[in-house]
Amino acid sequence: LFGYVGIEAVLDQMKIKTMKTGFEFNIMVVGQSGLGKSTMVNTLFKSKVSRKSSQPGQEERIPKTVQLQSITHVIEEKGVKMKLTVTDTPGFGDQINNENCWDPIIKYINEQYERYLREEILITRKRKIPDTRVHGCVYFVPPTGHWLRPLDLEFMRRLSRIVNVVPVIAKADTLTLEERAEFKQRIQEDLKTHTISVYPQEDFDQDPEDRALNDRIREKIPFAVVGADQEHQVNGKRVLGRKTKWGIIEVENPAHCEFPLLRDLLIRSHLQDLKDITHNVHYESYRVRRLNESNR
Ligand code: GDP
Ligand code: MG
Repeated sequence: LFGYVGIEAVLDQMKIKTMKTGFEFNIMVVGQSGLGKSTMVNTLFKSKVSRKSSQPGQEERIPKTVQLQSITHVIEEKGVKMKLTVTDTPGFGDQINNENCWDPIIKYINEQYERYLREEILITRKRKIPDTRVHGCVYFVPPTGHWLRPLDLEFMRRLSRIVNVVPVIAKADTLTLEERAEFKQRIQEDLKTHTISVYPQEDFDQDPEDRALNDRIREKIPFAVVGADQEHQVNGKRVLGRKTKWGIIEVENPAHCEFPLLRDLLIRSHLQDLKDITHNVHYESYRVRRLNESNR
């Protein structure tokens, strides 16, 4: 009766369960205002979700983001439903004094851990706890081509302690390919010098194979991204892109920018890993901290 059940069978059952109930995945975009965060939210959804709503050349004005705002879409891939939520945040840097500009963001991230914790410690737990925790936080670095600014370092240092941080070079179309590569190198050095551990963190590589895969990703981080929410006609096909005087920059074309790498990392190859690290590392350290507090 209790014979051996192959692991495949168990995995199949898990898959059937997720197919029915679906799962939640939450991303947040953070960075100074004007770096294309709100545009990137649209780019992510438009590159995944149906494009019916947008007409070629149609101008969509993105209003300035003034508060934290979440957009959710249910996406279905290979029969599995994913509830993808992207939280857009107001940019900082508009004030003369940027001191503590990270407070509202950090507060939001912790509030989601707190919500989860409250559900988890209830005696009659829900069968499935709603998950609003931020699984990945995309940090937009301004395309200066120089070094990271003290503000970016400080912000990323604070964020990386509580959430998976995925830095990107914003508006990469304003840099040449050589400038992008050089800037990327400098940012990697900067992060290393300041011991800021961004995703995928070396400490959490599971085995040599995992390490080899993640090393290849770490070489490419921060991704040089371009965002767009308009479509253009290129060789008879409609593509998401930005029109410049040199032609159209196709955001989904890997030869034009690294937006496809960002999208694939977040919502394909590393989705489960981002969820696991959020739960096992970031949420766990929040939980331990909170329970220690209340035991004092
Ligand atoms: P946010 O303040 O970070 O949310 O930035 P927005 O998404 O509102 O974009 C600010 C401006 O930058 C808008 O005029 C966008 O069209 C433009 N923009 C957004 N993404 C890019 C990009 O990748 N490259 C360039 N050149 N401009 C961009
Ligand atoms: Mg915005």
